[in-house]
Amino acid sequence: MTLIPLPAFSDNYVWMLHDGREALVVDPGDAAPVLQALQQEDLELRSILVTHHHADHTGGIHTLRDTTGAQVWGPARESIPAPYQPLAQGQQLTCLGLSFEVLDVPGHTAGHIAFYSADIEGAPLLFCGDTLFSAGCGRLFEGTPEQMEDSLRRLAMLPAATRVCCTHEYTLSNLRFALAVDPDNTDLLAYQAHCQALRDRGLPTLPSSIDLERRINPFLRASAPPILAALHAFDAAGLAHDGAFATLRRWKNEYR
Ligand SMILES: [Zn+2]
Ligand SMILES: [Zn+2]
Repeated sequence: MTLIPLPAFSDNYVWMLHDGREALVVDPGDAAPVLQALQQEDLELRSILVTHHHADHTGGIHTLRDTTGAQVWGPARESIPAPYQPLAQGQQLTCLGLSFEVLDVPGHTAGHIAFYSADIEGAPLLFCGDTLFSAGCGRLFEGTPEQMEDSLRRLAMLPAATRVCCTHEYTLSNLRFALAVDPDNTDLLAYQAHCQALRDRGLPTLPSSIDLERRINPFLRASAPPILAALHAFDAAGLAHDGAFATLRRWKNEYR
């Protein structure tokens, strides 16, 4: 199995997984990079997995379904271009002979789902859309901080080796904020240097891993003592009233 992030728009990735003959893609906001990759690698598109309804994740569905006949799977609690197979927490799907489990991860949108496979050639794989980003998390457009915190907590409990395939290349900008709230975290400093070197060469910083995110992502560590101290300095009253996670998310929204 080959896993490729196809760049789309300014900072999206359409993840493609293929076995040399057949392919699946996740969140095709644009059909063009997918069609180009299918042609280049001589692949047949079998499945389209969709995490949530935003246009930059769904805009290519019509064209791809019409040109390839691929089956579309998407969130049961949101509407994406029909027809598609609606999925919710605990349901399984099989494509390319691989089994994926569906996780409900509301927060960024109300019905956001993620796709988890426990074993793809020895390593687990997660397609998490705009819920978990490397060193960050999605904005709360439709859900509450409590929902997002719970969604992230469940993702953080996945096996440490899980490869985390996020939909946006936001890592460097997330790291600037992460270092502002957690400046003495040596894993974070090392990771920033690593990601900067990758971006300088035009390479993706993704996939990340659950192990790494547990160590460096402030949204998975909002109650860690150094982050609590930073939140207290940022807005002690807000921290007391709203809790660590909601205050951290608000700070990130305001951070420039
Ligand atoms: Zn989104
Ligand atoms: Zn997005």
